[in-house]
Amino acid sequence: MIGLMDCNNFFVSCERLFRPDLLRKPVAVLSSNDGCIVARSQEVKDLGVPMGVPYFQVKEVLTKAGATLFSSNFTLYRDISARVMKTLESEVGFIDVYSVDEAFFELPDDTTEEEIAALRARIIAQVGIPVSIGVAETKTLAKQASVLAKKNNGVCILTSDLWKEKMDTVLCGSVWGVGRQTTVKLRAMGVETVAQYIALPLPILRQYFGVVGERTQKELQGVSVYAVGEGAREESQQSIMSTRSFEKTTTNLHDLESAIGYHVTEVAEKLREKKVSAVRMSVMILPSRHGDFFLHRGSAEVVFSPPTNATQKLLSEALLQLSTIYEKDVPYKKAGVVVSALVPEDYSTGTLFAEQKVDTKKIDVLTDMLNDKFGHGTVRSGVILKNGARGSAKLRSKEYTTRWGDIPTVQAK
Ligand SMILES: [Mg+2]
Repeated sequence: MIGLMDCNNFFVSCERLFRPDLLRKPVAVLSSNDGCIVARSQEVKDLGVPMGVPYFQVKEVLTKAGATLFSSNFTLYRDISARVMKTLESEVGFIDVYSVDEAFFELPDDTTEEEIAALRARIIAQVGIPVSIGVAETKTLAKQASVLAKKNNGVCILTSDLWKEKMDTVLCGSVWGVGRQTTVKLRAMGVETVAQYIALPLPILRQYFGVVGERTQKELQGVSVYAVGEGAREESQQSIMSTRSFEKTTTNLHDLESAIGYHVTEVAEKLREKKVSAVRMSVMILPSRHGDFFLHRGSAEVVFSPPTNATQKLLSEALLQLSTIYEKDVPYKKAGVVVSALVPEDYSTGTLFAEQKVDTKKIDVLTDMLNDKFGHGTVRSGVILKNGARGSAKLRSKEYTTRWGDIPTVQAK
């Protein structure tokens, strides 16, 4: 059997972990720049606030309900996610991390609901994040089971008998991997429920939905196509990106340098964390979509030989490229950096004309260590203005678990 563990309202749960006074109260988390709602507590969902909606559209409803809002605090969410995953891994062995708050794993066929409930209870007790666990014969069905689990004490074993009962009422749009376009297409063919989808003849399915549609049908029939562990392959991604919109547009080159500097620092840190170097790097600056300025979008690519993950090397090249694509008087809205063609760090063909330069490796190692210990951005390149590219995040909570100064104080009476 395949299990899927899914954290409930994950970002909200992370915030509540350090604000227990917010349990059972409406809480929502905003995207970067505090633009949209990206996580909702059950109380906010019950108010009818949809996922991804711009904050200003629901501000009144939320204020009236006395909701507490947070800016995204990814440093906190990543750390809590790592704790949840580590705990799950220690319980079930190999796990296939699917997203920041979900992981698949294998279970013996005779696992009982009590055993799964006990596993769930141990994760909650050790990390403090509420989770749901769905168990079924395939990944697609485990995903359905985890939805049912949320309505049923957090645990659901979707046996084939139970699934046969449910599939008449489950809509295709709720199935893992069935997107909006596919749903529209299916509806036009008169196919609304999973039972109808399963009944579709193979040639028709192949003709209209290709191999993916066929695989989904198999998975829904309880024939496993996507093995646990497949997700791990997706993780060895071939590019790393850091990009962000500005709160207000800017025509100032220094602002752009600061933003690019910030994004280079971000990707360089990730490269070193993954012990890889980049062959290619693109730098991009995008103007506001209003007016004719969209024609002025600029991007430039650099190829490194040998590949590198050194902040200074990446940064000096990025700033050079920026100066070639920057245009005066264009209101820029967004900047970003992408590194791709990633190779293992120790992989180096060496170049005949290798430059004799200061060893910047030590600086990077030291910077990473200091930022790890004292918080993100403690040591940064001089080109980065203080909070220059971080955008607005006025409601961000503290880095409770990763920064010495932010450790919460508890008073016992
Ligand atoms: Mg979740």
